[in-house]
Parts: sequence; C-alpha cells; structure tokens
Amino acid sequence: MVVYKFGGASVKDSNGVRNLANIVLGNNENRIIVVSAIGKTTNALEEIVKYPVSNSGLCKSKLDNLYKLHLEIVDNLFDDKNNGIFTDLKNDFEKLQSVVFNNSYKSNDQKYDQVVSFGEIISTKIVSAYLNSLKIENTWIDICNVIITDETYREAKVDMYKSGLNCKEIFRFENNSIYITQGFIGKTENGFTTTLGREGSDYTAAILANLLDAEKLIVWKDVEGILNADPQYFSNAKRLDKISYQEAVELAYFGAKVIHPKTLKPLHNKNIPLHVKSFINPAGEGTTIQDYKEYDQNLPIFILKKDQMLISLFPKDLSFVIEDGISQIFTYLSQHGIKVNLVQNSAISISFCIENTYGKIDELLEHLQKEYKVLYNENLELLTVRHYSEKDISEMTKNRKIFIEQRSRHTAHFVVKDIEVKNSW
Ligand code: ASP
Ligand code: MG
Repeated sequence: MVVYKFGGASVKDSNGVRNLANIVLGNNENRIIVVSAIGKTTNALEEIVKYPVSNSGLCKSKLDNLYKLHLEIVDNLFDDKNNGIFTDLKNDFEKLQSVVFNNSYKSNDQKYDQVVSFGEIISTKIVSAYLNSLKIENTWIDICNVIITDETYREAKVDMYKSGLNCKEIFRFENNSIYITQGFIGKTENGFTTTLGREGSDYTAAILANLLDAEKLIVWKDVEGILNADPQYFSNAKRLDKISYQEAVELAYFGAKVIHPKTLKPLHNKNIPLHVKSFINPAGEGTTIQDYKEYDQNLPIFILKKDQMLISLFPKDLSFVIEDGISQIFTYLSQHGIKVNLVQNSAISISFCIENTYGKIDELLEHLQKEYKVLYNENLELLTVRHYSEKDISEMTKNRKIFIEQRSRHTAHFVVKDIEVKNSW
C-alpha cells in the first residue's frame, strides 16, 4: 500500500484535477490519496473567520466568491450537470455558512477549525466524484472518523493509538483499492473538528503511512523535488537527489516549504521512504528521503523563512533572565502555539525569533510587557545556510542588515532584514 499526497497547488483548477486523475491512472497499486483544499482556499477561509460575524455582508461575499471558484472547477470537470457533486457542493457551502455565522463556539480557535476544515472536505468530494466519473473506482473517506486528536485547536495532537485502530477498521485493501481522503483535519473525542497546523496535509499522509505500514509516501509537488534553495528567492537552485530524514527535518523546520516539518518523524519511525515528485513531470526522479546520511552535505542549502519577528526582553529589575524567566516565557509560547525559531541570550536579556502568527502576537506582547521591557522588530527574515562556506555566507548577507548571527559546525542562521530589491543573488 502506498500513500499519495496532493497539495492545494496541484488541484488549483480543473486541469489540476485532470492531471491528478492521470497520475492515479498511471499506476495500479493499493492507495490512499490525501488531498488538500483547492488552491488558496484555506487562506480564504482563514480570512473569513478573522472578520467579525457582525460584518455579515463581507463574510457572505467572501463565501460567495469561494463558492463560485469551486463551482467553476466542478462545472468544467463534469459534463453531466446532474452529477451529485453539484448538490454536494451547494449543501456543503450552506453548511459552511451556518458554521461561519454560529456564535456558540468555546473559542476563536475552535471556530477556526470548524470553518477551515471545509476546504478539504469539499476538495476531496470533487476529486472522488471526478475519478468516479472516469470509472476510476474509489472510496471517499471522512478522515475525521480516523484521525482522533486532543482539543488543541489549530495545532491538534494526534492520538496515534486510537487513530491506528480506526485506520485498520476503515481502510481495507484488496486489488487496486483507492481511497480519497482529506489531509490536515481530525476530530476530538467530543466530535469537534480539529486541524493539525497550517500545511498539515503532508503530516496526515505520513501518519496514515505509519499506521498502515505503507511501502512509501509520495508527495506530489509543483517542483522537481527538494531543491537546495527556494527558486522563488534564489537563482540556480538544484534538485537534491537523496537526503536523510535528519537533513529533511532541518530543512523543513527552518522554512524550506516543500514538506511540513512534522512529516518526517512518523516515516522515520517506521523507515518508510518519502518521495517528493513533480506532478508536472511525474516521470522525473524527484527527491527520496530515507536513511541516507552519506548523501548529505554534497550541496550547500539555503533557506529563507519570511514573516519573522525578533523580540528582545529585558527584566525590569535586572534579574538574570535565564534563571528566572526562561521557563515561564517558553511555557507561555508553547501553550499559545507560537513557534520559536532561534534564541539568543545575555545575562540580562533574551531575544527570540518567532513566526508572526495571526492573532497571537498582540496578546503575547501584552503578556510580556508585564514583567519585561520589550523591544521588537517585525518583517524580518530568518536565513539558514546548511553546509555553508564563508563565500556562501558573504554572498547571502551582503544586501541584508543582520540582527542576529549564529553558527554551528553545519548550520549558520541569520535574522536579517532585506535592504535591497530582491533577485540580486
Ligand atoms: N489546506 C491546508 C493549508 O493550506 C493544509 C495543507 O495544504 O496542507 O494549510
Ligand atoms: Mg495548502
């Protein structure tokens, strides 16, 4: 059994869905196909939950736009206008609207998950119906009946044991069985939908691979594989042929967007290879991630993580920050799901670089200001260079103001601000 994962970009329009079908047709093995929300649907839904419901006109028009976008794709894919998918789509958007206008949730985060999860529910129904219309037999699975999580909305933790039992119950493989299901979402034991963190579909795919002892996981992307730099920011990016799980975790954690950082652990634990392949060129070799230590360090790797914020704290009474404050600060950050990418301290100050996550920063600053003098910089970048040389580093940092610099034997990190127009590298 093999797990496939298709992200939002691969199904962003009707041609994307057709291409997915071709890839599925091109192989005949037992498969679970995990699909994300169409294109930027999750971002759009995130926008919708951000607006106060009192602004109902705006919410409705945003929902309407999203409906139109989906309807256009479906309209394009299905000649038979009586196909059930048209009613499914309409019903799901009606349900979504009632969730958006429901004010009875315990918290914003709980509501967020009930709303954004519709993206995946809808995209997978479209893919499944389309495959059926081509006579590619498949079963649509509501992954919420499989993946059981705790109640940490927007970053839920998966109960591997309970999810494993459900997996074995729900997925049965015979000859060329195909299951279509959602990434990114799960359910609490009380029946509320949860999400596993943005871009979490890769992680779902890895969990399913782990729980069902898959032969491999293939993540289909719009790039040739994992590159040693993001071609959007760096010219001359090269494909990495084979890398180790460890290298891949480092890359993903520090912002290489190809795979979600949590994806590697479930695969590594069962020694299941991860293939990152191009959905544009499915015959291409892609990148294979497995226990390949000997292949690492062939190429320097450059990673740029945007939207970073550097916060520096100075205890008001000159106490030593490490002894007194650090555990409280980090407990607060972890309880609020704020990811820390880099830390640096002196005797009486601590600085940390975090993701600028929606809705959490103001609250954080307010909390910190009670005990510390707080300085911060926004709109920064975290630049990571693995297997660096001095030449690489001076090249990379020449048009940037450096706020913090840290180096270990294999990795150099810089918290920087861009001071010139891009594309100068
Ligand atoms: N649709 C979700 C997101 O955009 C999950 C994913 O794409 O992996 O965050
Ligand atoms: Mg996505």
